[in-house]
Amino acid sequence: MKIAIIAGHGGVDTGANITGRTPEANINLDVALELGRLLSAAGYETAQYRNAYDAPKGLNGTQIIDDSGKFPARVGAELAIHIHHNAGGGVGAEIWAQVADERGGPSKTLGEALLSEYKSIGQNSRGVKFRWNSTNSADYFGVLRHAKTSGIPAVITEYAFLDNGTDYAKIDTLEKRRAQAAAMLRAVQKVYPVSAPQKPKTGEEAIRYLAAKGRITAPDYWVEMLGIVKWLGDMFVKWAEDVQ
Ligand SMILES: [Zn+2]
Repeated sequence: MKIAIIAGHGGVDTGANITGRTPEANINLDVALELGRLLSAAGYETAQYRNAYDAPKGLNGTQIIDDSGKFPARVGAELAIHIHHNAGGGVGAEIWAQVADERGGPSKTLGEALLSEYKSIGQNSRGVKFRWNSTNSADYFGVLRHAKTSGIPAVITEYAFLDNGTDYAKIDTLEKRRAQAAAMLRAVQKVYPVSAPQKPKTGEEAIRYLAAKGRITAPDYWVEMLGIVKWLGDMFVKWAEDVQ
């Protein structure tokens, strides 16, 4: 299963920016990168919208919303998670899900699972929310609307408010942002279970695996060598265990 992970804002757009606190775009990125690592270790395919603080280059805030909204379809994702953090007076976590799921559906189900995992690590829930556009015909939020047009379930997660001291204390270290990502992984696993990747067990399986991951070349040569140097097999199996 392929999951698009979008760290909200970035580049010239810092998102919520409170004096003396890490800007939202940076916090979003920390959570996104950790979520990507955790998901791929758990057997999911992932696509990151941005991998760095200064990307995507050349786009302003409005263009990022439009471009990141189309990203899940562009990469053939089956699910999209937009990572944001709140501001504007409030406390607690909320999830924006797609309006078509208001009475039940995949984005609402994932939203509820996310909030339940957020609660398990000590955050309050403000609930799964829906916002219709002015004509009540589609999602107000472009990123949710774009995904829906392509038939992709999508959510926007807002774990905490940057402008609230109690909430900010839940995201003010990398360790805490990683705990948030771990909670997100558990929610995804509940709603979209996949089996963990099988690691190679024999020397030959390990050699083929490492070659497929680009870690070694000439796999046929190494397989031949296995017949001569017996301990090579164990070495390759051990090596493969460490390679995602
Ligand atoms: Zn945001």
